[in-house]
Amino acid sequence: MENTSALRNWLKKFDSNHPFLIAGPCSAETEEQVLNIAYQLKDSNVSVLRAGIWKPRTRPGNFEGVGALGLSWLEKAKKETGLLTTTEVANPIHVELALKHNVDILWIGARTTVSPFVVQEIAEALKGTDKTVLIKNPVNPDLALWLGAVERFYKQDIKNIGVIHRGFSSYGENKYRNIPEWQIPIDLQQKFPDLPLILDPSHIAGNRKLIFELCQTALDLNYDGFMIETHHDPDNAWSDAAQQITPDRLKEITEQLTTRNKKS
Ligand code: PEP
Ligand code: MN
Repeated sequence: MENTSALRNWLKKFDSNHPFLIAGPCSAETEEQVLNIAYQLKDSNVSVLRAGIWKPRTRPGNFEGVGALGLSWLEKAKKETGLLTTTEVANPIHVELALKHNVDILWIGARTTVSPFVVQEIAEALKGTDKTVLIKNPVNPDLALWLGAVERFYKQDIKNIGVIHRGFSSYGENKYRNIPEWQIPIDLQQKFPDLPLILDPSHIAGNRKLIFELCQTALDLNYDGFMIETHHDPDNAWSDAAQQITPDRLKEITEQLTTRNKKS
């Protein structure tokens, strides 16, 4: 298997005193909201603005994203703030539209990683591009399924690949919305040591109070970065309100995190 040092080298371009940081709302809601958050993140350690445009919701009836319209908001935010952008793609049409609107990084959601047919279609749609792709773990604790998705992108010559650990679903009441199962990403890293590993504490926690401790655990395990849901008015967010934090809180968290085992 080829290694992914291309992406790791790319990550090194960012300030090495801080983990690579992706932040922004769970969902793009309005143009004003996207720009407001982007401007608040502009002069911080954040390198990439995230916002979901197509939102896979477990049950119907919830806000399912603004759709392609949101891509022009991301493009505008990028132009005005200089932040790179990322959004979730869940089929080849999403890929085509995201490429057209110059989204820098595409992420594969946890409900997509479970489906080899869809992963294959997305990987083929990206063949021949130099896009960066971040692959979230599948919702279920199945390492082979996660590895399989990574391999499908490699096989289409996509070189800039990273993985996002967002926890695993389970039944019943738990401290976490999605159980971290830290051993699974550790096992994945053993197989692909050059694959940058990013923590999504927001979807693991489901609750903003747990974000800091999850980030600290990940840093102690030498993770490369974070994707953290950040909203100017978290309590009134249209999706995932309980787990989002403000840009000010994000700044506090990143300042308080200590790097104990920094990669050389
Ligand atoms: C998200 O990042 O907003 C999202 C839907 O994540 P996941 O695929 O991890 O549930
Ligand atoms: Mn979310």
